[in-house]
Amino acid sequence: MDSLAKTFWNATHSTVSPFYPCNSCGWSLWIGSRKLSTWNRSQLYNHSNSADILQHWSNRRNIPIQLIRSIDWEAGEDAIKRLGLNKALWIPKWLAGCAPVGKVLQRYHFQDHAECPRCSEFEDTAHVIQCKSLRARSQWNSSLSKLEQWLIQAKTMPDLRKAILGHLKAWGNDTDPPRPQYNWPGVNDLITVQSQIGWRTFLEGGVLKDWAAKQQEYYSWLARKNTGRRWITTLIKKLWEISWDMWEQRNAESKNPESPASLREHARLDAAITHEYIDLLTLAVKDRRWFRRTKEIIFTETIEYKQQWLKSVLSARARYIRRHLHRTNLQAQRTAMRNYLVTPAPLI
Ligand SMILES: [Zn+2]
Repeated sequence: MDSLAKTFWNATHSTVSPFYPCNSCGWSLWIGSRKLSTWNRSQLYNHSNSADILQHWSNRRNIPIQLIRSIDWEAGEDAIKRLGLNKALWIPKWLAGCAPVGKVLQRYHFQDHAECPRCSEFEDTAHVIQCKSLRARSQWNSSLSKLEQWLIQAKTMPDLRKAILGHLKAWGNDTDPPRPQYNWPGVNDLITVQSQIGWRTFLEGGVLKDWAAKQQEYYSWLARKNTGRRWITTLIKKLWEISWDMWEQRNAESKNPESPASLREHARLDAAITHEYIDLLTLAVKDRRWFRRTKEIIFTETIEYKQQWLKSVLSARARYIRRHLHRTNLQAQRTAMRNYLVTPAPLI
């Protein structure tokens, strides 16, 4: 049997070896003229989608297309790994404008309006940061103070610190940006180009590669071992945490029963409840239990309770109408049948 197998092998096995070893899976992957030696998902994803993704962000944030590759995307990748799972999952939603804020909650029918719970204006993600209500502004100021403390502690170049805080303050408060008047060589140019990319984009982690390079020059001048790379990664993380804190403050406010949106919703529900109290007769006797308490007591309940109360009463009414109609139809059929049976047939 062995010799038979050997003869078969010699007759059928090719003796010419390929110019490179065969892949175990029988096919190979190339990017341009370069063969990929390992299966790298993110390399492939970036290769196939990077042009579209960069074009998308260029359009979405109005970033000049010639500057899109000057953004430090790698620093953003490192920053998200250091953010913790909760925030790391939230960041893409936030940046894509899909985090649950007024505009999104209305679009998906979680609420019937897109108003900010703090000031009643239209709410998208930019508004969460720029909302003019007192509480939002005080959260913003305290977040910027925290950032300033970190910038000082991380030995940030004073010109860079001044530029970051001045421009973020101006963007967040919707006021005029400061003029670039910085002393360290190249910082004026850096700030001018970052202004073309935008300070909202900066707050979102879209920072130029030159930020790390400038801070590295400063660390070298101070003869410190810190790196500009590490500094920019932590800075991006801190910037995302500012947006997170603003969003958290907004969420706390949306649960506040004294907020303008809550008060309006209470008024709308109270009017609907009052309307239901007018007629108790188009309800089955057992369903009249919803009205045991006076409407004034129902008015003191939460929004969720009132919504549930209205839902229960409306479905009880629908049930009553359905049964009543059915009974009326049945009655009409019986009468028609009785008339038919008692009426004598015409004589032919
Ligand atoms: Zn607002």
